[in-house]
Amino acid sequence: MNTVQDHIQPAWEAFVNRFTHFDSRLNWLYLISSIALAFFFLAVVSYRKHGSLKPFLILQEIFDRKVWFHKSALVDYQIFFFNTVILGLLIIPFFVSAMMILDGTKNQMIIWFGEPEVKEVNAFWIVVFYTVIIWLISDFSRFLLHFLLHKIPFLWRIHEVHHSAEVLTPVTQYRMHPIEMILFYFRGIFVLGIVSGVYLYYYPFVMKEEGYLMVFGVNIFRFAFLFIGSNLRHSQIPVKFPPAVEYIFISPYQHQVHHSKDQEHFDKNFGSHLAIWDWMFRSLVRSKEVEKVEYGIPDGNPHKSVLKAYFMPFRRMLKKIKNEK
Ligand SMILES: [Zn+2]
Ligand SMILES: [Zn+2]
Repeated sequence: MNTVQDHIQPAWEAFVNRFTHFDSRLNWLYLISSIALAFFFLAVVSYRKHGSLKPFLILQEIFDRKVWFHKSALVDYQIFFFNTVILGLLIIPFFVSAMMILDGTKNQMIIWFGEPEVKEVNAFWIVVFYTVIIWLISDFSRFLLHFLLHKIPFLWRIHEVHHSAEVLTPVTQYRMHPIEMILFYFRGIFVLGIVSGVYLYYYPFVMKEEGYLMVFGVNIFRFAFLFIGSNLRHSQIPVKFPPAVEYIFISPYQHQVHHSKDQEHFDKNFGSHLAIWDWMFRSLVRSKEVEKVEYGIPDGNPHKSVLKAYFMPFRRMLKKIKNEK
């Protein structure tokens, strides 16, 4: 029989994993690298403005109490905790895994195209190509899902929870309605499962042995994104890239613009790692086009507690249905 201990132990592990797993943005290494990058950025700004570094002022700005203890941030922490522990444990383990999708895809390919021929290949380039492809498709699928979360009214009510944040801290990344979390979870396993299944069909020996180019078990491109200030996307530090680079990669400030309550910035900068999708779909805004950003949604924050964040989207949807009748 399950004891309380049996549930608490994995719940605690799911929470700790957020800070220790290298696939999690809040991993200690990425937090340290983000603080270092923020410090460097603010030091350059300060030096240009005042001719000196002012390190204490910089630290005060990074660890601004008004931001970290803002009511909206306190709700972020609670949502993060409940989403991680409860959903990670109770819902996700029951869903299909990427391995199942991978096997299903590979078997389906065999049914459609027959057993693959064994051919001489250069394993190194196959692995490099797979690493790039999985990264590109993953990023595009993230863009697409984010785009739909904004454009489909029901999904927007769900995604609105993320946008109602009035201040941004790295934990705001996890200020997400559980339904959105599940959608992103499915996106991840489907993309990984299908792309890997196709690869495994064509290059069974390479894929089994080499996998893809990884750092600490994470795709090398994803690692670079996580290490180079991914946490600053949800922060008050306006780190920008050179204007030309912002056509290719989304800078932290470009994501902060995505959180702007100004109507002019609605439905802009959906991208996660790459800006090219926004560029292609004409939803790209570069940092130099926006002077200042105020975060939130125009009608004020309706998600002042965890319960409101979880249930308000349904209440609003029901209200809309009733009004339409
Ligand atoms: Zn959004
Ligand atoms: Zn965000």
